Amino acid sequence: MDYQKIREEAARRVFSLFRPDRQGRGFVCPICGNGSGDTGDGVTFIQGTARVHCFKCGFNGDLIALKAQENNCSYRDAAQVLAVIFNLADERDKKYVNRTLLNNGIFIVNEDYQPSYENLPQIFSAERRDETLEDQTQFFTDAAKNLDLTDYHLTRGLSWKTAHKFTLGFVKDWHHPKIPNAPESPRLIIPTSQYSYLARDVTKNLSERDKKYSKQKVGPAQIFNTDALNSELVFIVEGEFDAMSFYEIGFSAIALGSISNYKKLIDILLQRQPQMENFLPTIFVLALDNDKGGRSTTRTLRQLLNNFGFFNYIAKNIYGEHKDANEALVSSREIFSDAVKKNAEDARQKFINTFFEGAFSQGSE
Ligand SMILES: [Zn+2]
Repeated sequence: MDYQKIREEAARRVFSLFRPDRQGRGFVCPICGNGSGDTGDGVTFIQGTARVHCFKCGFNGDLIALKAQENNCSYRDAAQVLAVIFNLADERDKKYVNRTLLNNGIFIVNEDYQPSYENLPQIFSAERRDETLEDQTQFFTDAAKNLDLTDYHLTRGLSWKTAHKFTLGFVKDWHHPKIPNAPESPRLIIPTSQYSYLARDVTKNLSERDKKYSKQKVGPAQIFNTDALNSELVFIVEGEFDAMSFYEIGFSAIALGSISNYKKLIDILLQRQPQMENFLPTIFVLALDNDKGGRSTTRTLRQLLNNFGFFNYIAKNIYGEHKDANEALVSSREIFSDAVKKNAEDARQKFINTFFEGAFSQGSE
């Protein structure tokens, strides 16, 4: 039995095995029903892999495993039934296939459903390049050469070293490339990917009207500073300036860019998750903004991280009275730095308690 072939064929014919969700981007989870609601997007593929994940119940695995769980049978039984259905069975599979499972019809829900190209799982469309994406590399290089024309980053507590690390740049007369008639303003350029950036108006004492346009993004929404994931301990924050503030004091942080991006973050983590066991997990410290939105996203993210088995710790009193990391840094580097160190130590301690002491006794939370 060729598990890989079965896995890929199941992915290719996913919509004949599972009901498409309302939005047609994923399918309804057979375990928890996620995707059947009006707004629910169901189970989706982890980009570039044959694995899927459900944000609601936390299922994470290939379609054979999902079919096995749905039908309460072994992985091997599920694979064998699928092999027979897909004409991938060898003599042995045909002989030993679980006939009850094969015959009761629950394996195929919709044999006639023909997926359109757009509906194909991402595993097969990952190679597609979005034509509308514009490579900004040259723009970043040019903007970086002009960085010494501004000291804006210094007013935000970020040193030249940090500015260079994140390839910050400056444009004296920037306007949004998609809005040709927009007024020009001097902007700090913060690259967020090869195709996207944040342009921050550096004008002092902005009018209320201009404040609305002081932060503009170009290109697709991006998780900022994914390089941070190479560290053993990673803070999760909201804004780009927050992530850079952590770098400034010697720590690693990844920024959502916008709190609505939390699913994107989980996608990236799952994509990078090593396939083997016994790897040392990353310690994630949730340190979102000190406000209502930050707290509610923290709860959501924590649930998702737990569901998918990512170790996490919620930062305590990390920004004091301030709204976010950058405000705290600007207010007092020393107090901010001490609070971050304290949280990092506490997170590591909890990690040790969970993984090492838990290994010898059936430790509880
Ligand atoms: Zn589910």
